[in-house]
Amino acid sequence: GTAQIGVTGLAVMGRNLARNFARNGLTVAVHNRTAAKTRALVEEFGDEGTFVPAESAEEFVAALERPRRLMIMVKAGDPTDAVIQEFAPLLEEGDVIIDGGNAHFADTRRREKELRERGIHFVGVGVSGGEEGALHGPSIMPGGSPKSYESLGPLLERIAAKAPDGARTVAHIGPDGAGHFVKMVHNGIEYADMQLIAEAYHLLRSVAGYSPAQIAETFRTWNTGRLDSYLIEITAEVLAHTDEATGKPFVDVVVDQAEQKGTGRWTVQIALDLGVPVSGIAEAVFARAVSGHAALREASRGLPGPTARPLDAAEAARFADQVEQALYASKIVSYTQGFHQIRAGSDEYGWDVDLGSVAAIWRAGCIIRAAFLDRIRAAFDARHDLPSLLSDKQFAEEIGAAQDDWRAVVATAAVQGVPTPGFSAALSYYDALRAERLPAALTQGQRDFFGAHTYRRTDREGSFHTLWGGDRSEVSGA
Ligand code: NDP
Repeated sequence: GTAQIGVTGLAVMGRNLARNFARNGLTVAVHNRTAAKTRALVEEFGDEGTFVPAESAEEFVAALERPRRLMIMVKAGDPTDAVIQEFAPLLEEGDVIIDGGNAHFADTRRREKELRERGIHFVGVGVSGGEEGALHGPSIMPGGSPKSYESLGPLLERIAAKAPDGARTVAHIGPDGAGHFVKMVHNGIEYADMQLIAEAYHLLRSVAGYSPAQIAETFRTWNTGRLDSYLIEITAEVLAHTDEATGKPFVDVVVDQAEQKGTGRWTVQIALDLGVPVSGIAEAVFARAVSGHAALREASRGLPGPTARPLDAAEAARFADQVEQALYASKIVSYTQGFHQIRAGSDEYGWDVDLGSVAAIWRAGCIIRAAFLDRIRAAFDARHDLPSLLSDKQFAEEIGAAQDDWRAVVATAAVQGVPTPGFSAALSYYDALRAERLPAALTQGQRDFFGAHTYRRTDREGSFHTLWGGDRSEVSGA
């Protein structure tokens, strides 16, 4: 075979990735369960580069140069297993199967182990940036063995996006499921970012009394500063859009029930297992869930709330500045939490993930791309063992400078009855980390009272139990 890479699964993502490889000078074997899609790809885009169409699995495998690099871009879950089962028997030792779908990292770990035992490299790759990214340059998060990256890395580097400093947005994340894990957390952070932006919008609308068009302008201004990011940019676009049929702001004609495909939920489920407090991501997932409970919301509409107090123009402008501070501070917290989860996953599974390099490959190509990520990269590059993003001097200073406004915004939201689960959870996390003492000491006392769960003391080593039902003397714990 002559093809340097093969792509099977030619729906939007696979087709665009195949075109991206071909446009960058690679010979690409293409295959799809339904062969009509393979033919359509070659007919429509055949002049963009060198494609080798294959109708059968055998033909596809034969088209690949060795060691073979075969990328699967089919529906995640059972279809991915079916396709692996179909191709694995046709492959030889040293060949590489790449799964670019949105697989759960635990599935990737299982598949990698099974295929490793058969001498085949299995590389789970997180691909972010949607169909546009796939075609013009995604952010790519490959897991798998270092050996497989030697053969695959140079090809992925050709199709990845370019960060502002020219670096390609791809790096070997770590063994087995590390790439899909990091992609999962990326999506969780995306949920949190979107929720925080939504809260900022809600406050500007309900408290400051701004119109969607005015808020679009506000976001455009913010996008020239430290909040410069793809999500802020598209938010301004969406808010400025007018519905053609009604002439109303587009955002006012859309049903206010947010849907989800599940990667945010995965992030929170895994965070619970790892014991990592990703409260910002969790609140974002729950906020979508609340929005979707139409009957519950309908039944609750009559509950009493505060009387809104309209702001005058000067107060509204001042409030908008405060919201920018709250948004930025909360964003720092959600990235702090997301990177904590990546570090915890890396420790749990022995991946040795380089957090600076993760931030670096999120700078372009993906949905959460933002100027801010370059500073996160710098923070982790300067200190690999940085305990938390909040321990970085610059971020600590910035959040410190924002805190008064951040508190004012959360307080105003509470007084005016505007839900801000993201801003509030972020602020509580910040204050919990800062606290000299937490009421967890009381929690321990309660646990010892009803369940003899024991506690540790501040002044002596060991574990202790108080005889709550007896004379309340203290004994040594189990
Ligand atoms: P879909 O998830 O809609 O999957 C459709 C493709 O899967 C088709 O090529 C289809 O073949 C194939 N397929 C489904 N079941 C089987 C099966 N049992 N055996 C063989 N082939 C099968 O395609 P997308 O392009 O949207 O996404 C591909 C992957 O990329 C998914 O895992 C998705 O989660 C992930 N992804 C998607 C992003 C996006 O923005 N859409 C972004 C990042 C990742 P056929 O034509 O024969 O039906």
